[in-house]
Amino acid sequence: MKLANYVYGQWLEGAGDGIALQDPVTGEELVRVSSEGIDTGRALEFARQSGGPALRALGYEGRAALLGAIVEVLSAKRAEYFDIALRNSGSTEADAAFDVDGAIFTLKSYARAGKALGPARHLKEGARVALAKTDAFQGQHFLMPLTGVAVFINAFNFPAWGLWEKAAPALLAGVPVLVKPATPTAWLTQRMVEDVVKAGILPAGALSIVCGSARDLLDHVGECDVVSFTGSADTAARMRTHPNVVARSVRINIEADSINSAILGPDAQPGTPEFDLAVKEIVREMTIKTGQKCTAIRRVFAPAAASRSLADAVAAKLASYRVGNPKSEGVRVGPLVSRAQQAAALEGLAKLREECETVFGGGVDFAPVDADPAVSAFVQPTLLYCDKGLDARHVHDVEVFGPVATIVPYADTAEAIALARRGRGSLVASVYSGDAAFLAELVPGIADLHGRVMVVDAAVGANHTGHGNVMPTCLHGGPGRAGGGEELGGLRALATYHRRCVVQGGPALLEALSRDAADAALLGS
Ligand code: NAP
Repeated sequence: MKLANYVYGQWLEGAGDGIALQDPVTGEELVRVSSEGIDTGRALEFARQSGGPALRALGYEGRAALLGAIVEVLSAKRAEYFDIALRNSGSTEADAAFDVDGAIFTLKSYARAGKALGPARHLKEGARVALAKTDAFQGQHFLMPLTGVAVFINAFNFPAWGLWEKAAPALLAGVPVLVKPATPTAWLTQRMVEDVVKAGILPAGALSIVCGSARDLLDHVGECDVVSFTGSADTAARMRTHPNVVARSVRINIEADSINSAILGPDAQPGTPEFDLAVKEIVREMTIKTGQKCTAIRRVFAPAAASRSLADAVAAKLASYRVGNPKSEGVRVGPLVSRAQQAAALEGLAKLREECETVFGGGVDFAPVDADPAVSAFVQPTLLYCDKGLDARHVHDVEVFGPVATIVPYADTAEAIALARRGRGSLVASVYSGDAAFLAELVPGIADLHGRVMVVDAAVGANHTGHGNVMPTCLHGGPGRAGGGEELGGLRALATYHRRCVVQGGPALLEALSRDAADAALLGS
């Protein structure tokens, strides 16, 4: 079966044999995708001409109601999505929930938040600016919804959340969406789009999907479009330098890979709640979605005196996890999504092992439960230890996109800061400490190179939302290597889909334009 693309209001199969999507446990072919023969320029133009105006006519409140209706459709089909995630991504129940329920939760959050903007058509920013000696001529800043298309080029690891965490703010802003999911796991994204389109919730042209190669898509984006990319740093660099993107100054938001860290404070010694909370979170981050999360913990910085005990505690917990076919009883860690990802992860792991000691795992004699290693895509959860600090060549640079983390001991706070900063820009660091003096130095010391810093102490305890969990109300994105993008953060995300314009003129005109506007200060509320 070949999955249909949905463009210019039509369901169209791509030409040719297409590319096969496979079950990463059995190697069985599931479906095929192809974008051959799809007119991507026409798809974008249809979205601009039909979807955009119809969405913008509804106002923010009306569009928030559409998001609420999407939530209803997706919630009703949840079991089908879990089944696709199991077959196409090898997801355990918990992994599928992370993606599918995360998507629904995010949409719900925007449906709720969007109501606060009321029926307005655009946003007014700040007070009027005096431009003349009398009030005859003034300025007013506005944020106007873009009249283009939000083009999403997504990564394979979040086929559900990856679409809706971007689509929720774009649609709420009044901007139609065209998604190009990553090929290996495109099935779930395509099914969700199909369900929402068939439910007739959105106006024609508001939601389109192209599966398979992006082909010439970027040749057709323009000044009023936004390209939002999630994927590897290498592909991101190609997007940024695409001649048409450069020539037309197309807005581009990039979420790339990131060597995130967990940092134990000097007080997080064995026997303390902070130590135990760190152990739990490191193991969770290594195992949920088999470590295929852009936010996952890759490096762990621990005070030298506690680092060996930490390694022992994490290894002991990892030993209790069953790894294998998610259909088998008790399995908590599934495969990577494809043999290609397995090969890439094993290649990265080999590099890390050149300068690390293997504390747990490593793959020798590893046999996944109820799966044939010859056709499946498993990587054994692996904990490494590296005592080379800042002199390590690969630990701070190589992202193994799988269940692998490295413990690195540090001597003092200055070294912990330098190690975290050596990631050259990360999505998130989590810190396990109740030492106020340490935190007062560490948090500002790393904040400009991190999109999010999560601090957990005994008082926060189990109330924290998780190192790797992206909350719709909080910023997701990171500087430098992480791509420099910004997503989510509540209504702040709408800024990506608006353009600031100052209108200079008489008070009557500014008053008339302001009547249709909600206060842009609400974006930060
Ligand atoms: P990838 O190979 O860079 O691919 C990402 C997307 O780009 C896919 O849809 C891919 O399509 C498409 N693509 C590849 N080359 C292209 C080109 N020349 N023109 C247009 N589109 C192109 O990344 P991936 O392997 O799917 O994803 C894993 C990476 O994503 C990891 O490194 C991870 O850290 C990162 N990630 C980051 C975040 C975040 O929020 N920061 C979230 C998740 C993942 P095809 O699949 O058809 O090749």
